[in-house]
Amino acid sequence: MAMRDMLRKVGGSPGATPSRTPNPLDEADRLALLDSIETEGLCWFWVSDANHRLTYISPSAAAKFGRERDLSGIAVSELFEIKEGGGSEAETWPLSFLLATHARFDDRLVRLADDDDAAFWKLAGRPHFGDDGVFLGFRGSAREAIDEPSCQHEQGTPPQPVLLTGIGNRRHLEDRLDGIVPRLLASRRSCAIILLDLDRFRRVNDMLGHPAGDHLLSEVAQRLQETVPPSAEIDRLGGDQFQIILPDRDDRGDLGELADSIIQIVSQPYWHCEQRVEIGASIGIAIAPYDGLAPRELAVSADLALTAAKGGGHGQYRFYGSDLADKDINHHELGELLRKALAEDAVEMHYQPIVRASGNRVIGFEALMRWDHAKLGQISPATFLRVAEDSNLLDELGQWALSRACGDARDWPEDIGVSVNISFAEFFSGNLPGSVASALKSSGIRPARLELEITESIFLGDPAAIERLFAELKELGVRLALDDFGTGFSCLSMLREAPFDTIKIDKSFVRDCRESGSFNAAIITAIISLAQSLGLRTIAEGVEASDELDLVLDRGVDLIQGFIFARAMPQDVVLEKFASGDFVYEPVGPLHQRLERRVALRRIGVIHDNFRYDAILRNLSRSGAMIEGLLDVPVGTDLVIDLGGGQLAVATVRRSQDATQGVEFETPLVSDGASGLCTRHRVSPYLLAEVGLPLASLDSGIQTPMAGAPKGRRRFMQVDVFSGSSRAA
Ligand code: C2E
Ligand code: CA
Ligand code: CA
Repeated sequence: MAMRDMLRKVGGSPGATPSRTPNPLDEADRLALLDSIETEGLCWFWVSDANHRLTYISPSAAAKFGRERDLSGIAVSELFEIKEGGGSEAETWPLSFLLATHARFDDRLVRLADDDDAAFWKLAGRPHFGDDGVFLGFRGSAREAIDEPSCQHEQGTPPQPVLLTGIGNRRHLEDRLDGIVPRLLASRRSCAIILLDLDRFRRVNDMLGHPAGDHLLSEVAQRLQETVPPSAEIDRLGGDQFQIILPDRDDRGDLGELADSIIQIVSQPYWHCEQRVEIGASIGIAIAPYDGLAPRELAVSADLALTAAKGGGHGQYRFYGSDLADKDINHHELGELLRKALAEDAVEMHYQPIVRASGNRVIGFEALMRWDHAKLGQISPATFLRVAEDSNLLDELGQWALSRACGDARDWPEDIGVSVNISFAEFFSGNLPGSVASALKSSGIRPARLELEITESIFLGDPAAIERLFAELKELGVRLALDDFGTGFSCLSMLREAPFDTIKIDKSFVRDCRESGSFNAAIITAIISLAQSLGLRTIAEGVEASDELDLVLDRGVDLIQGFIFARAMPQDVVLEKFASGDFVYEPVGPLHQRLERRVALRRIGVIHDNFRYDAILRNLSRSGAMIEGLLDVPVGTDLVIDLGGGQLAVATVRRSQDATQGVEFETPLVSDGASGLCTRHRVSPYLLAEVGLPLASLDSGIQTPMAGAPKGRRRFMQVDVFSGSSRAA
């Protein structure tokens, strides 16, 4: 198709901004002019669809690329690669990222992928939306980058992170650290080690073969290179692990943000031979000199942090902390415990109500598994589902969930539905339609009362298998919901084709939707209007605060699920509710989302005027804490809270009653990647060495020292909160 036909088809001119001055050329002349630009090869045009696949590329360009094959249908990000080190950080963002975010871009230096000798082009692209606001694809142009010789590296371009291609193992990591850490320590510098492990990579290798796996690994390496700062050194360890060494980095706030963006970028979809592939990543972080001085010690610390990150579910990062050393979760052991729990019927199903937006009447419940182990306590479904997958228990657990949920729903009123989560592995296990059919049969519930909740991750599977499974499930008469919508990379066209009945708006969008500057409210509006245009019903998940409820109601959501109505509850509580004849849940929640407070009962130190007091941490949030142990501390007093492991937080007393104080931190704490919080910085072991302690990592259990012997009198009375007595020094 010639450009002019293409333009007619897509209805406009690509790339160029329409001129507002009267155009002396008529339409035909203008198109002829464009044609001549194309045929001269000065510039070429491209158009892609909503999946970022080429639907048009100027014939002159196609010929230049010397490819015999038809370029239409090829993923844009597969055909071209962004020039590395081509400018600022934003200028080297991967093409796939720009496309996926529907960002407008100009003059990105690209060349044909896999061809080191190919010329560079300056690529421009504009996202293109339909009248209904639905993203239709990109239109763009490109011109040869004559002024950008490929030898630009020599002309003082910004430095690039070093990408080492060697494949090694843990020993290899230690060797690298051997070469770097002693040098840094000698000049009293710090260094962060990021260990990255790809989630679900084995599945890609198994499903698509090793060449696909290799291709994916090299793309991961490239994305990493584009994400980390130039001073970093990236290296691949054996299998699907990467290490990143970052000199002079010890701010855990910044490192956490970097880890988050690495996880996000690595988790964007990849395309291999027209197949969409998705993986995830888990990250462990250790920092020298805090978490170790010797390379081996650091490698072990990073490894333990990685294990903890994976143990907490996929797609997380974790910092090494002294508490990890003895909490190294043994997955095999946990798997055996789970097997036993299943056999002994110790796994339970709880139900969280889903209510209608108008009137708050319950229309159904989501079934959520619970495992409360006698010694280990509550184990989160994210953890035990992963253990189940590794221990081959997922099928059994999934079948149990379906039959328990349907069996329990049989005792509910006839119009109340039940939603059951189906994980990726369960979806493709081959048994799903069979398990669903047997759960329906043995419970006798109407199929339409059962809704299966599926996440977007399933789209990484074989499209033919997905289509077949959808057909079989629809044949059974059950409903399908797309869970956690918006967190992965939803392909809108897939949404249109797949037979979903419901979209669940992920709780991450509901959270902070009322914060100023947050895009979440706009995203919620977009999802709801998209769902409405496709005739799907919407559920807003994770609604906790009144202002969140008001917002989702205002945007026209159909159904609501969240702590504001109720948490998941056991079957007998559900039955009591129905027996009472009351089908309505009243919203009960804070007016606004509060910064998360975590209950933390822990011994800490409080330092004031060079005296150290013992205290108990009652609860902790990013911005402050509740402490108990010092009597009558006036409001406004500055304290230093010693949270252990070298974490000192300067705080001011804001509320005070008897032996309890509410304090506000001067610098907010940051996430440790999981449910915990930590300080951005820790007392430097170098500083401790200066006051006479041997240089050692903080792990060695050093108490924060106070310089010299304290002089004067203790200001406050110490209360022994455990025994209730008080003493003054
Ligand atoms: P999910 O499918 O996104 O389930 C909703 C999660 O959000 C539940 O966490 C629920 O307790 C939580 N939630 C609901 N309302 C609120 C709220 O207002 N605020 C907050 N902060 N959270 C809220 P839960 O029970 O820990 O489950 C975690 C995940 O484990 C589920 O995420 C689901 O993916 C998986 N899961 C749970 N039960 C099953 C099951 O039977 N089978 C499978 N395959 N997966 C399950
Ligand atoms: Ca769910
Ligand atoms: Ca969800």
